[in-house]
Amino acid sequence: MRTLLIIANWKLNGNWSFNEAYASAFSSGLKDVDVTGRQIVICPPSIYLQQLNALILNQDIYFGGQDLSDETAGAFTGEISGVMLKEFGCRYVLVGHSERRVRHQESNEIVVRKALNAISAGLIPVICVGETLEQRQSQQMHEVLSSQLDAILQGLGEQVEQVVLAYEPIWAIGTGQTASAEQAQEVHSWLRERVGKKSHSMAQNLQIIYGGSVKSDNTKQLLNMPDIDGLLVGGSSLVVSEFLSICQVNEGI
Ligand code: PEP
Repeated sequence: MRTLLIIANWKLNGNWSFNEAYASAFSSGLKDVDVTGRQIVICPPSIYLQQLNALILNQDIYFGGQDLSDETAGAFTGEISGVMLKEFGCRYVLVGHSERRVRHQESNEIVVRKALNAISAGLIPVICVGETLEQRQSQQMHEVLSSQLDAILQGLGEQVEQVVLAYEPIWAIGTGQTASAEQAQEVHSWLRERVGKKSHSMAQNLQIIYGGSVKSDNTKQLLNMPDIDGLLVGGSSLVVSEFLSICQVNEGI
């Protein structure tokens, strides 16, 4: 039985006063939400982790970083290590988000190094994979996903048991164009099958979450799918009422 995971990715959003208002509304709204059997994670910009950690005092809410360095310490200006994120209360960290793969030229090798650093620091890496619209339309989707996934399987070996996989079709991120529940399920089940070629139990235990324009009105269809174990939510996570609705939607009709 895989636990349901709902992750808020704030990206480059939030500021001191926004965070205060968010934390207060979120904490009081959460009293009416049944989070049994699910984990809820907030990934704010790292600089605000301490502030939010102090404001959201709820043992059911976890924190995560949006990225970490592929190095552990030294002369790497601007970088943040897994150990630092852990020290600031993180349990999770996003790795290989497409916005980083594209804008920061993060290769599969860098993604693997980051995931390994996260695990060594005691964090759970949420490793993102996904294809562009051109790749999907030109039937290259499986090739792209295989290269991303195979790098993870080879680079992490048995440690794949300690990660979460996030399928985020790039064409659905921040575009309002969600993959249909069926499209997402098809890829999730394909990814699980591919992991299953390495190890059946690893595949069965692996949490594979979906991200890409998730909203409260498409949450239920997505979570009803057998291979969708949670959601990575960008834009909608910045609106407290919307994010709370997503957190409380129950899968299963
Ligand atoms: C994301 O940030 O990973 C994401 C899926 O964003 P959005 O929900 O805004 O598409």
